[in-house]
Amino acid sequence: MTTTFEHLGLSQPVLAALDMKGYNTPTPIQQQAIPTLLEGRDLLGIAQTGTGKTAAFMLPSIDRLREADNQTPFKSCRMLVLAPTRELAGQIAQSAKDYGAMAGLKVQSIVGGTSVGKDRNKLHRGTDILVATPGRLLDLIDQKAFKLNGVEILVLDEADQMLDLGFIHALRQIVPLLPAERQTLLFSATMPSSIKELSKNYLTNPAHVSVTPAATTAERVDQYLFMVQQDEKQALLELILKGRHEVPGKFERILIFTRTKHGADRVVKKLAQVGVAANAIHGNKSQPQRQRALDEFKRAKVPVLVATDVAARGIDIPGVSHVINYELPNVPEQYVHRIGRTARAGADGIAIAFCAEDERAYLKDIRKNTDAEFERLPLPDNFRAVVEGVGPTKREQKQRGPKVRAKPRGDSARRDSRGPVENPAKKAGGPGKKHPNRAGKPRRDGGAGRPGGHPGGQRSAGGGGSSRRRRSGGRPGGSRA
Ligand code: AMP
Repeated sequence: MTTTFEHLGLSQPVLAALDMKGYNTPTPIQQQAIPTLLEGRDLLGIAQTGTGKTAAFMLPSIDRLREADNQTPFKSCRMLVLAPTRELAGQIAQSAKDYGAMAGLKVQSIVGGTSVGKDRNKLHRGTDILVATPGRLLDLIDQKAFKLNGVEILVLDEADQMLDLGFIHALRQIVPLLPAERQTLLFSATMPSSIKELSKNYLTNPAHVSVTPAATTAERVDQYLFMVQQDEKQALLELILKGRHEVPGKFERILIFTRTKHGADRVVKKLAQVGVAANAIHGNKSQPQRQRALDEFKRAKVPVLVATDVAARGIDIPGVSHVINYELPNVPEQYVHRIGRTARAGADGIAIAFCAEDERAYLKDIRKNTDAEFERLPLPDNFRAVVEGVGPTKREQKQRGPKVRAKPRGDSARRDSRGPVENPAKKAGGPGKKHPNRAGKPRRDGGAGRPGGHPGGQRSAGGGGSSRRRRSGGRPGGSRA
């Protein structure tokens, strides 16, 4: 018998909110965690975003807060959720509002990079649920604008990431200020010894739930690999995004990862030069800029987002069809986090890695630690010649002297310069037209076509239609790397 949310013991108002969200079946972490949390036990959850963990802790907490029915405390909160990034905090707060819609609970969030004065004002009368990044919370506590004496439930979300980001000092200051009698939940994607230590210190006789070990996410994602030189990556990316070098899957939203903020900006700038709109999201962007980039990505207005690892943590956007690892992460767990941005809530996804010679060690580490299996894809024909004609940097242009042509601007100029990499179907159809699948090339979307031109061109209908075809080995260039 399939477990339903009713079976898990949730209240009517929460069930009604779930109904509105259209959730019918609890995910594995929800099935495991909800009954335990409703009993009031502490919990150590090993789960990544994408597994439904926000609802797993938010739904029973909403019910427990309703049941206890304490007053909203002045300058304090009843449930405190600490999250490592602004984006994640924003998403958790939104979920809390959605799930708690019928429960009449007040939800607020406070994150760095916004006005402290406004946060002070909005928390003056207290709130039921507060989602915060640790730094901003400490600011308010230091200013005596907020206290933690009202907290009944504490959630530490993405605890491993909080530690990676150096929030341990903040946690050490925050946790002792909480009432000793409370329910504490700790979620982490990985279980290094530092997390074990944290749970030993902060949790009391916790229940353990664990879903999606590293390899499981990797299994749901079809993973591809280009071995490509560092100076060829931009050209390859452009060809892929413009549909001139076909990769599996139908483009819907494409999340591109770089290791550095500067790298992210550079990719965006160069894409703009060839007419592909993209936004960057990283720590140097202001909060409104980050929010706008996310909104435009969500609405698929600008369906190409270039992100650093930290900024992308907690990005939960349904319909990320492709994750492109423009640069490989030097920490294998980050790779799992990255590709987990696609394949959300049970869907399949596609991850494409660009690996340069000097990243081979990272690739080896990823393979060893995550069981990732890559299908190697061939580079475009005559690729080196194409690279020479695409996007030389200013310095390269200077070095090469006046003979170097300026970057081709329009599609036609680019087509002329690229020759053999051109998709024959596109030549006939012109830019921006849908092109049929190349003969013999199996596609995840069953050949339904994908937007021609750059991904902003045409929107595809419902990206969820990809078939659950695993690497079948039938693809051209499908040798295992
Ligand atoms: P999370 O792991 O909390 O980031 O959730 C991942 C995504 O799954 C979010 O978009 C949720 O809205 C969605 N989700 C969570 N629980 C369910 C469910 N039971 N059924 C369908 N979608 C869900």
